[in-house]
Amino acid sequence: MDYLEIKQNFEHHGFSTQLFSTKEEACCYLVDILQNQTIGFGGSETLKEMGLFEALQQKNVVTWHNRIPGLAVRKLANCSDVYITSANAVTETGEILNIDGTGNRVAMTAFGPQSCYYVVGKNKITPNLSEAYQRCKNVAAPLNARRLGAKTPCAVKGDKCYDCNSPDRICRIISMIERVPMEMKCEIIFVDQELGF
Ligand code: SF4
Repeated sequence: MDYLEIKQNFEHHGFSTQLFSTKEEACCYLVDILQNQTIGFGGSETLKEMGLFEALQQKNVVTWHNRIPGLAVRKLANCSDVYITSANAVTETGEILNIDGTGNRVAMTAFGPQSCYYVVGKNKITPNLSEAYQRCKNVAAPLNARRLGAKTPCAVKGDKCYDCNSPDRICRIISMIERVPMEMKCEIIFVDQELGF
């Protein structure tokens, strides 16, 4: 399915959409439209690769636990008017899947901010819900577990999910956004590059 069809499917589900060729263009777009805002970030390699925190900090108050770790910072980020995150997987048919350990991201993408922006590299796009779930569990979660230094079998072996019961298990809550939550504006910013996990 091409981007035109994928965008149409998300728009049919209530999302606005954008498409950029590069992460630099996507970063400039967000810098242009977001000023004098309180902005929370979800944990994300995509946002890190974009340099988005540094770019938006110039004219906004941005809170991100990837910069200052801890539950207090997560809570502060979840009081923001704007939330920016990526996704563990999206479907060509217009749904978004995310897995969390603490639930801060799935909470804010479901309820809280006035507006939510998802930055999605082409590697996150899957044909359907089944493959999106498989991507979350067997691609995104093991790579994130390894990044976080979690003592889980997926982090050690790096190949797939072992449905572990480790204290470090990062897969504790999974969300599927089927339609834009009521009273929230959501935008999907597609970037035609591989970004994040
Ligand atoms: S359930 Fe455990 S093994 Fe599976 S991806 Fe999550 S942390 Fe890794």
